[in-house]
Amino acid sequence: SDPGILAEFVTAALNVNAMLWRTSPAGTELERRMVQWIRDFVGLPEPFSGVIQDTASTSTFIALVAARERALPGVREKGLAGMQAGTVYASTLAHSSLDKSVIAAGLGLSNLRRVSVDDDYRMSADELDRRLAEDRRGGLRPVMVCATIGTTSCTSCDPVGEIADVCAKHDVWLHVDAAYAGPAASLPELRPRFAGWERADSIVLNPHKWMSVPLDCSVLLGRDLGPFKASLALTPVYLSSAETGKNLMDIGLAMGRRFRALKLWFVFRWYGASGLREMIRRHCGLAADFADRVRGDDRLRLVAPVTFSTVCFLAVPPQGQSEEEWNERLLERVNRDGEVFLSHTELDGRYTIRLSVGNVNTAEADVERAWDSITRELSNRVGD
Ligand code: PLP
Repeated sequence: SDPGILAEFVTAALNVNAMLWRTSPAGTELERRMVQWIRDFVGLPEPFSGVIQDTASTSTFIALVAARERALPGVREKGLAGMQAGTVYASTLAHSSLDKSVIAAGLGLSNLRRVSVDDDYRMSADELDRRLAEDRRGGLRPVMVCATIGTTSCTSCDPVGEIADVCAKHDVWLHVDAAYAGPAASLPELRPRFAGWERADSIVLNPHKWMSVPLDCSVLLGRDLGPFKASLALTPVYLSSAETGKNLMDIGLAMGRRFRALKLWFVFRWYGASGLREMIRRHCGLAADFADRVRGDDRLRLVAPVTFSTVCFLAVPPQGQSEEEWNERLLERVNRDGEVFLSHTELDGRYTIRLSVGNVNTAEADVERAWDSITRELSNRVGD
């Protein structure tokens, strides 16, 4: 967005470093304020606070390190050797950044449990419950459950309320990855998809995905920041200052911190909360219209429920042709002329095409162009 670009320009010129309150009081205070604005925008309660990180991958990693310290006290000091093995739980559709976090936190990918999903691609809370119990019986130490609201592949929403009950029962840290969908919680009509997320220990949402803020801007929220500090805060003598407790570098790995709050402030001030809500609502409407077109064309099929602004669909190949090859070719041809860019994923082992609306400037005419391009290629017979 224009205000986001302008803010990046100003940020580069100021070049402040919000690592300590002292190194940038304005950067620190504005970041605290922006995290509050985000929290209020998406309707999370007061105890939540946090910091701005570069990406959701980093935010999730930091949350996992905090959860690790809580589950395996003393790991920060002693390391993992000799500790119980720590386990992490997520649905089969969780983002790959969780896998990377598990690797980087030294827990081992074999300790990442993939919980199955239902027909709507939502994590099974019953299976989660069973697997947590099994692991505890087996002498393992559950560290974190990661629920996703708005999965990367198809934007499905795990039943966070039920998952929160299971986490409470087993005393496990609940992290909610709402990197893409988080800002949609600002719309009353979409709030039910987020039910229960206020019970999470940590939440990540990315203004750089669906709030028109340029990369990089990921907000990490925690109900209590104590465990974050207990796991990673460390102040060498050359960074000691009187403003203890106000230094944002205490939550996270990086010492140096860009003034990311400024672009969030510019975007909030320019569009207002109501303007941002209106944009998100419009995007969801455009996706819903596109999904209606798909439903009305018997050459195409919807593959997943349309929960936000992403539509997962595929083209039905003629008899005897491979579905995957047919769709791969369709995607390649639609993308080739550069008019629109569609992406793909795999759902239930099927090659799936995705149309996602997320840019502030995307209008009905753009979605119309995408539709024309898809149907033109289908009429030209993709296979020829
Ligand atoms: N989580 C979800 C649900 C995502 O969709 C993505 C990116 O698509 C990520 C995490 C990773 O985001 P980032 O690029 O900010 O690390």
